[in-house]
This record gives sequence, structure tokens and C-alpha cells, in this order.
Amino acid sequence: MDFGFDPDEEAYRQALRQFALKSLAPHYQGDDKAARLRPGLVADMAHMGLTGLRIREEYGGQEAGAVVAGIAAEEVSRADFNAAYVIVITALISDVIERNASTAQRASWLPPIASGETLPALCVTEPGHGTDAAQLEMRAVRDGEQWRLDGEKTSITLGMSADTAIVLARTGGEGARGVSVFYVDLDEHHVKRTQFDDLGARSIGRASLYFDGLPVPADRMIGGIGEGFVSVMEGFDYSRAIIGLACLGAAQVSLDEALQWARDRQAFGQPIGQFQGVSFPLAEYATYLRGARHVCYEALWRKDKGMPHSTEAAMAKFWAPKLAVEVIHQCLLTFGHLAYSTESPIGQRLRDVIGLEIGDGTAQVSKLVISRQLLGREFAS
Ligand SMILES: Cc1cc2nc3c(=O)[nH]c(=O)nc-3n(C[C@H](O)[C@H](O)[C@H](O)COP(=O)(O)OP(=O)(O)OC[C@H]3O[C@@H](n4cnc5c(N)ncnc54)[C@H](O)[C@@H]3O)c2cc1C
Repeated sequence: MDFGFDPDEEAYRQALRQFALKSLAPHYQGDDKAARLRPGLVADMAHMGLTGLRIREEYGGQEAGAVVAGIAAEEVSRADFNAAYVIVITALISDVIERNASTAQRASWLPPIASGETLPALCVTEPGHGTDAAQLEMRAVRDGEQWRLDGEKTSITLGMSADTAIVLARTGGEGARGVSVFYVDLDEHHVKRTQFDDLGARSIGRASLYFDGLPVPADRMIGGIGEGFVSVMEGFDYSRAIIGLACLGAAQVSLDEALQWARDRQAFGQPIGQFQGVSFPLAEYATYLRGARHVCYEALWRKDKGMPHSTEAAMAKFWAPKLAVEVIHQCLLTFGHLAYSTESPIGQRLRDVIGLEIGDGTAQVSKLVISRQLLGREFAS
């Protein structure tokens, strides 16, 4: 058994930490205030290979393992939690394309994602269907040689900036088997966008997208008719552990800052870290963080080994965001009044991580997956 990163992974982690400190951290709070994806961010991340982590080298990607993608999410989120969304989305979408698209589709679609020229989004959620996504209503109707998409997708990460999207739409009857998947250009003449005024993660521009007869060439369908739902959901297994590590990165950097504050801040003539009322909560959360981090990396390690990892990924997704909220809240309290100001990044991290308690599926969905594995499918409602 080996709990460490290998020398290459460790060197990569160090290099990313330097990049993130220099190029991402200085913009974290300003981008939140501006509430828009900073021009140049995706290009900077692409330059570091962060938009092509899971894309093969022949398509301009890094061909990195899942563990390495987890390292990237963790390190980037220490500096700028919201920049980690770019890693999560590009890795998830390139995985879906890699596993399900034809050779010609992969060769055409993956290089621009790896280079940062194209920013993709994932359109599953609708106003009437979130957790019960298999009931989605957006229609794709055949129109000669092409399809036309009509309907509304909502809560789309990077929705205001994305150039392309994987869109799930109904081409057949009820349920998951009636759903197909398309990779579309978000042509402004047929897709209108409105941004949410969000509590956190404001720079990712979460948006509703209104499709008004968007024409989609037939060769933009991924897989066969009615094969879309399962192929995208399989990708979520993997992205859930990456999301977990993004949340834990934001929590760990907050804990590191709180520990330093506990050494430096004096009260009653001594450092506050000498009060067990201050040090014990930090000790407890350091322990929980380590446990949750192991679960996330185990899921990714299993994925790299070709082993089942749905249960571990579900554990990561339900535990890590929830734990990150608790840790960051405790760190804010450890700082006292100073961290209640928007001048501190801690309050923003707290707002930001809450979003990923919901995004990519709530804790309840993850617990359904875990329960099903523990008890058997007949116990899952
Ligand atoms: C920051 C963020 C980013 C997102 N990014 C994207 C994106 O890029 N693309 C995209 O398509 N969507 C995205 N989403 C949407 C997200 O996937 C949905 O919000 C999520 O699936 C839950 O759906 P809902 O919000 O409609 O809640 P609902 O499904 O209405 O659920 C409401 C509550 O009921 C609970 N619940 C529902 N069903 C059950 C059940 N069977 N058992 C127990 N409890 C249940 C839920 O856990 C939740 O607490 C994002 C959301 C957020 C917050």
C-alpha cells in the first residue's frame, strides 16, 4: 500500500501550486465581484494543459490519469475555487466524447477543447427536472438531414461563456431510453442566455439557455438514438471525485490560513492556538479532511486501474462538499471579525463551495448510489 504521490505527480503538484498562486489567486475575489468569466483565464489554464487533461496526446491533450486530474482540481481550487470548474467541465465532457464519440468526431471536437479555443458546457438540467433528469423534456426533432432543438436548459455552469455544449434531449419515448446526446455549437441566433445572480461561484456565469429551433447536423449526435443518458451519467462517476477534491482544496487552504492565524493572533497574553477551544476544532477538521481526501483519491485511483468506482465517487461527492462547508465555516470563526469582511477570501470560499453541494447531483443522489451498493438495488427507491 502506498499513500503518496509518485515523483512525477508530486512535481506536477508543486508546479501547479506555483502557477495557481501567481496566475489565479490574485484574481479570485475580483472575478467574483465582476461576476463574469475573466477574459484570458481559459487561455492561461489551457497553456498549463488544464483544459486537455483527459484528452489524448494525439488530440493535443495531456492524456493524464484521473488521479492527476484530481491533483489539478485540488491545487487550482486552493488559489481560485471557481477556476476548478473549468477543469471539472472540460474533463467530464472530454471523457464523454472520448468514450462515446466516433473517431472522426473525437478528432474534430477534442483538439479545440484541449487548446482552450472552445469552452464547452453540459446541458442536462431543466426548469422542471433536476434530480429526475431522466424525465427531461427538451425535444430534438428530425428536420431533413438535421435535428432541431427546442426547450430550456437551466443552471448551466459556464453557460454565459461556453461556445459549445453537450445537450441531452428527447428523441423518443419516456425515461432515459428516450434521450439522445448532441454536441452543439451555441449559435447566438438560436440560443438565448440569462445569468443567475448567484450566492457564490459568481464568476462561472451559471445560466439558463433557451433553445429556439437550434439546427444541429445529424453528425453532431454522440452514439446512437436513445443512448445519450447512460453515457453522460457514467461520466459523472468520475467527475464527482474531482469535484470533491476541488472542495477539499478550498477547505484545506482555509485550514492552513486558520492554523497560521492561531499561531499569530494573541488574546489574553498568548497565541489563541494555545486554547484548546481553538486548536481542537482545527485538529478535528484536519482529521476529517484527510479521510475525505483519501476517499476522493481512492475513487480516482480505482478509475485509473479500471476498477468499479461509483460507490467511492458517490461517497466523495456527498461528503467532501459538505465537509468543506463545515471546515471553512469553522476557519471563518477562528479568524473572528476579520474573516467576516469581504476583504478576506474565506467568506467567498464558503459561498462558493455550497454550490457544489447541489451541482452535479445532491447528497441524496449520492446516498442512493451508496445505499444501492450496500443493500442491493431492490432497496433503492
Ligand atoms: C453550482 C451549480 C452548478 C450546476 N451546473 C450544472 C451544469 O453544468 N449542467 C447541468 O445540467 N446542471 C447543473 N446544475 C444543476 C444541478 O445538477 C441540479 O441542481 C441538481 O441535479 C439538483 O436538481 P434541482 O436543483 O432541480 O433539485 P430537485 O431535483 O428539485 O431536488 C430538490 C431537493 O429534493 C431532493 N430530492 C430530489 N429527489 C430526491 C430523491 N429521490 N430522494 C431524496 N431526495 C431527493 C434533492 O436532493 C434536493 O435537496 C448545477 C447546479 C449548481 C448549484
